[in-house]
Amino acid sequence: MTAKEIRQTFLEFFKSKQHHIVPSAPIVVKNDPTLMFTNAGMNQFKDLFLGEAAVKYPRVVDTQRCLRVSGKHNDLEEVGIDTYHHTMFEMLGNWSFGDYFKKEAIAWSWELLTEVYKIPKDQLYVSVFEGDEKEGLPKDQEAYDLWKQFVPEDRIVLGNKKDNFWEMGDTGPCGPCSEIHVDCRTAEERADGRGKSLVNADHPQVIEIWNNVFMQFNRLKDGSLKPLPAKHVDTGMGFERLVRVLQDKTSNYDTDVFTPLINFIAEKSGFEYVGAAEPGEKGWNEAVAMRVMADHIRAISFVIADGQLPSNNKAGYVIRRILRRAVRYAYTFLNLKEPFLNQLVPVLAEQFNGVFDELNLQKDFVQKVVLEEEVSFLRTLATGIQRFEKYDGGKIIDGNFAFELYDTFGFPIDLTDLMAREKGLSVDMEGFNKALEEQKNRSRAATAIDTGDWVIVNEDRETEFVGYDLTETETEIIKYRKV
Ligand code: ATP
Ligand code: MG
Ligand code: MG
Ligand code: MG
Repeated sequence: MTAKEIRQTFLEFFKSKQHHIVPSAPIVVKNDPTLMFTNAGMNQFKDLFLGEAAVKYPRVVDTQRCLRVSGKHNDLEEVGIDTYHHTMFEMLGNWSFGDYFKKEAIAWSWELLTEVYKIPKDQLYVSVFEGDEKEGLPKDQEAYDLWKQFVPEDRIVLGNKKDNFWEMGDTGPCGPCSEIHVDCRTAEERADGRGKSLVNADHPQVIEIWNNVFMQFNRLKDGSLKPLPAKHVDTGMGFERLVRVLQDKTSNYDTDVFTPLINFIAEKSGFEYVGAAEPGEKGWNEAVAMRVMADHIRAISFVIADGQLPSNNKAGYVIRRILRRAVRYAYTFLNLKEPFLNQLVPVLAEQFNGVFDELNLQKDFVQKVVLEEEVSFLRTLATGIQRFEKYDGGKIIDGNFAFELYDTFGFPIDLTDLMAREKGLSVDMEGFNKALEEQKNRSRAATAIDTGDWVIVNEDRETEFVGYDLTETETEIIKYRKV
């Protein structure tokens, strides 16, 4: 099955169970102070769970574009290094708003995976919440007993609060969950009987694909759990992971979700994509770079298409950081010294045509924005990298130097941190934050004096644009330095 068919099959399956198909919400969240980007399918239904909005359709199914690069769910560091965490990914979900509960959710997820998608049962494991004394939460015996009808008990794993109690953020709807994991190792490897112990253990071939959350509580600001007015089902299946399993690949990047992008990058850069390379082996750095680029362009494009432009604060800065990270990978490991990422936008738009039309409709605009961002960062990147390479200050990179890279060369601090780690170094974060804070104080003081919209530049002096300043406010302060 192609990725498109796999997605459609999911929607159709739940439609046949009286679910109403709804569109994905935008990836950018504009009206929730607790969240910057959509990090799960349930976000757009938050008010329904809390009982604060009227339920129009008690059963819903969709595919939601999600982004996990900030806040409670942040996978950025894994992306490109592993083969199954993305920044932007699709979450397939079926929903019950006060309608069906555990019995149907569990039975249908099993039916879909084993009878429709035909994943062999002996490759599947399921997990159930073991309870948590501190929170006063019992083991989810009900889910356990329901699963027993389908899977032998030695394939049921009891999981702790970290893995089996799902929360959207520090506050908001939450509840115990039951997950499905697939052992994608070879038949020979699977015969070692270790599969169960590899569940939730970060094994690259034993991966979580589907989470069934039984929404029962609202986490309040004081940390307490308040029962919701009704019980709901919220499920989320990682689409790219599902495709990988069904297309029998060992990496999400080997599926048709990613191959058009990877092939384009490989062809244009002249480097071969060695997806199987291990850390330290020939081709590893290039493979990571290609995975990062193929992944990040999806996040960048959808965030822009959904209305958030790169900027110097908040959500806009998150996306600029991701973009700069991708540009640096391309520059350093694939020798791409000219704007390149933007060329991936049409490839991506073509792929998502008929799925998320938002991108195709705005592809020229998105490409232009990405190009401008690339041009701007490539202006300072080379010099910044040279400075970084020449830096000789021991194992810990000085906070003031990291600040200079940030301030003058536009290196987001996590990029400097990443480059440091590649060389076995670390960054003095405290020192960096102090330098940043001092600069903010300086700009606050400066703004207090210059209250007008106009800044009169002394005509006797030449000025040079040196970059933007990150402020806590919505305004960008363009900085000039006397030369
Ligand atoms: P993991 O443990 O692998 O990080 P998770 O437990 O954080 O996943 P959930 O919050 O349960 O993920 O989300 C539901 C599903 O979404 C997961 O079962 C997985 O298939 C998928 N998923 C989660 N994070 C990512 C990601 N960064 N990239 C791709 N798919 C993801
Ligand atoms: Mg996770
Ligand atoms: Mg997990
Ligand atoms: Mg999970």
